[in-house]
Amino acid sequence: MRLSRYYIPTIKEDPADAEVVSHKLLVRAGMIRKLTSGIYNYLPLGLRSINKVARIVREEMDRAGAMEMSMPMVQPADLWVESGRWDYYGKELLRLKDRNGREYCLGPTHEEVITDLVRGDIKSYKQLPVNLYQIQNKFRDEIRPRFGLMRGREFIMKDAYSFDKDEEGAEKSYWEMFEAYKAAFSRIGLRFKPVQADSGAIGGDFSHEFMVLAETGEDTIASCKSCEFGANLEKAKVSAPVGEDMTNADCPAMEDVATPGSHTVEEVCRFLDIPADKLVKTLLFVVDGKPVAALVRGDRELNDIKLRNIMGGNEVELADEATVKEITGAPVGFAGPFGLPEDVPVYADHELCVATDWVAGANKGDTHVRHLSLGRDCTIEKFADLRVIEPTDFCPECGSEIEFTKGIEVGHVFKLGDKYSEKMEATFLDENGKTKNLVMGCYGIGISRIVASAIEQNHDDNGCCFPPPIAPFEVALISLGGKDQDVADKAEELYTDITRLGIEVAYDDRKERPGVKFAEADLIGYPMQLVLGGKGLKNGIVEAKNRKTGEKIELPLDGFAEAFAAWRKDVWNSWGLELN
Ligand code: ATP
Ligand code: MG
Repeated sequence: MRLSRYYIPTIKEDPADAEVVSHKLLVRAGMIRKLTSGIYNYLPLGLRSINKVARIVREEMDRAGAMEMSMPMVQPADLWVESGRWDYYGKELLRLKDRNGREYCLGPTHEEVITDLVRGDIKSYKQLPVNLYQIQNKFRDEIRPRFGLMRGREFIMKDAYSFDKDEEGAEKSYWEMFEAYKAAFSRIGLRFKPVQADSGAIGGDFSHEFMVLAETGEDTIASCKSCEFGANLEKAKVSAPVGEDMTNADCPAMEDVATPGSHTVEEVCRFLDIPADKLVKTLLFVVDGKPVAALVRGDRELNDIKLRNIMGGNEVELADEATVKEITGAPVGFAGPFGLPEDVPVYADHELCVATDWVAGANKGDTHVRHLSLGRDCTIEKFADLRVIEPTDFCPECGSEIEFTKGIEVGHVFKLGDKYSEKMEATFLDENGKTKNLVMGCYGIGISRIVASAIEQNHDDNGCCFPPPIAPFEVALISLGGKDQDVADKAEELYTDITRLGIEVAYDDRKERPGVKFAEADLIGYPMQLVLGGKGLKNGIVEAKNRKTGEKIELPLDGFAEAFAAWRKDVWNSWGLELN
């Protein structure tokens, strides 16, 4: 490709609305252009990268036995009503009507459509298992579309759906996808980590998110410094505390203490001059419409997903002011774990077992209690792991130190079970002629988000450093010929030679100043740069720069092909990638 004929509208200034580096660089490098909030044009260079990501993902999906198909983006509302998600999905679902007033949505995901398709065609266990996927535009009316390709409203996703005859088969399908994801992300050249994620009502360890490790990630991951353990914060288990069970240990009689105007843990602790770990925080939630109280130590944070899972619920939200008042008889900030209505179960974090003599709310305005014993004064439904893990906690699997890192979710594998097949009556006949629900799994990859996360992970002050497998072009060939026809001729020759090797070259044959050409090559981030000038030609060499390491070497013009091939190998190796 000749840059003199190519559409690369680079710009000097960062776009005003760009907060993260990938957004800035994608726009400046002429790879994407915003049409409107969260909706982008993919320009030729940007699309090349996206297509390369898609190709690698496609190859790994096919290798794992999944089959590509394509589903419509416009989906009828009836299917979503059937699955129960028409009301549940909320405002992210963009709803529309046709000329006859029939309702539709733009697909944010395709469980309904695929389940509808398969239930029409699959009748017998003999047709199972099946795994179908597509690579296609999704639409989600995100509350805060931002960060360019990272969180768009229209974006490209690979979504796959597996159908099996039983749990065992579904688990096998799950791990096949898990391995395919590992293979794809490795081939792309990303530093990533699969982490345990919440699997909601399905339970078990059958939800993993694949995180690209980058400072700018929106997600926080807890990972072990010595073993493979990694989990997102809402999932990460906290080990049971060490120490004697003090629930029923001796404790002076409970008494009220006035705490006027002290609502927060901080205010109460300051007022009573106690550390936060002497206080029990009582939080009221509503899980699937039922009120529940949850207790954690004053210096900890409750994990509402853990609470929801213990209760086997679907939806959890903090109780509003009126509900708190109704249950405790006190304004917000003074709830305590004793004397609550019988139909409000109290769940306590397991850490609260190893101490007693607590301070807590008194269920009275402007009042707390001292000397609370959870064993003596309260009815605790269950002690369980309820809090958010902290960096000072230890690995729940091996007990070593953990660390928190930031990540960008680029993929998600999830066992669905019969959540959709049950509601939508997607059944088959098993070996004994019995009707059974199909057992499903779903697997997503953010294709366009991967391009952004590759840049988040690999860039410097001058621009992007694309991993070779997904760079828009692997090589930039910069001709500094100017009016020197010999240089121009030799550059043409090199361009033809490299192209013949089957390698994509962005050939900068423009009549631009050298500085402009160098800056642009760095900005776009071609992993390999070749520079041919008058002096080099005279000395029989072309200069070669590895964009990632900055390392420069000279390749001989005589015997160029072999020297180039060897250098290319080195460049791939500097990414930890093998050239095959
Ligand atoms: P997130 O938590 O980031 O909103 P999600 O859990 O909603 O993502 P999934 O439904 O699991 O995402 O979708 C599969 C993949 O699609 C995600 O792992 C992510 O890589 C990608 N993705 C999701 N939402 C967006 C978006 N708004 N823009 C770009 N990619 C997205
Ligand atoms: Mg997800």
